[in-house]
Amino acid sequence: MKVGFIGLGHMGAAMAANLVRAGHEVVVYNRSPGKGHALAALGAREAATIAKACEGETLITMLADDHALTEVVLGEGGVMQNLSRGAIHVSMSTVSVDLSKKLTQLHGEQGQRFVAAPVFGRPEAASAAKLFIVAAGDPAAIALCKPLFEAMGQKTFSIGLEPAAANLVKLSGNFLIASAIEALGEAIALVGKAGIDKETFAALIASSVFPAPVYAIYGELIAKAKFQPAGFAAPLGFKDVRLVLSAAENLQVPMPLGSLLHDRFQRLLNQGGEALDWSAIGGLAAHDAGEPRR
Ligand code: NAP
Repeated sequence: MKVGFIGLGHMGAAMAANLVRAGHEVVVYNRSPGKGHALAALGAREAATIAKACEGETLITMLADDHALTEVVLGEGGVMQNLSRGAIHVSMSTVSVDLSKKLTQLHGEQGQRFVAAPVFGRPEAASAAKLFIVAAGDPAAIALCKPLFEAMGQKTFSIGLEPAAANLVKLSGNFLIASAIEALGEAIALVGKAGIDKETFAALIASSVFPAPVYAIYGELIAKAKFQPAGFAAPLGFKDVRLVLSAAENLQVPMPLGSLLHDRFQRLLNQGGEALDWSAIGGLAAHDAGEPRR
């Protein structure tokens, strides 16, 4: 397929590379120049403008947040002005339910199609084409995107006609992961202060009562206090918790754990955690227990 790809950060660069490797004709664009060079060496074409990335039947965006997606889609010379009628915008970023609803409506008014397809999996999973993709929107559009999803992920879940549903599912999943990180951090601080080896504890938990990738990956990172380089940066994690709380407020759903996570991220970022991985909130408990910050 001829596909445009906008947003070549930690995730986007790896996902676009897998599209090229799968034989798709990929045109890449990134706000800051230079990030497309490695993809061009693989066989992608670099676009100098957003318009040039919008010439195919499908355009994928993988951008930081609502602000970035709004600028790229609705800004002057943006996606909305350039995508052809009938073409599909596949939004794979983790963004708000409200923005997803707005883009569904505005693309519809232009005769363009909009699919929300956020992903679970860190950059390593993106590189290995092992993402889990949660897609929602027009089933015919999702069916057309199937070869693209297969090139980037290990499984795609289609969860409905309303694109915003995929965004709410993604945000709810990230709320669960952040909750697991906080819980792991507290338990690891407890055993650590008692002199028990933290890595042994984390490995035991992940291979027994919690045999899940989240516990294995984050348990190890927290036990080792290995929060750099950031695979998923703390400011993006904070963004997701704020989006969860906003969706919860709209639906009048109390989420006390969400409020706690909000304050953990606020504390981490106030104390210089900008460049750390989001799992660094799991290091706060050890710090609170009197362990020197590593
Ligand atoms: P990232 O490395 O920070 O990349 C962000 C991308 O957004 C870059 O291409 C950046 O361009 C672009 N961008 C930011 N602000 C912009 C603006 N105002 N206008 C145009 N482009 C802008 O982030 P990431 O880790 O790849 O994450 C991308 C999305 O995937 C986020 O929504 C994140 O929540 C989600 N996600 C991440 C992970 C993970 O583990 N990393 C996992 C699942 C989902 P520049 O290069 O010019 O800054």
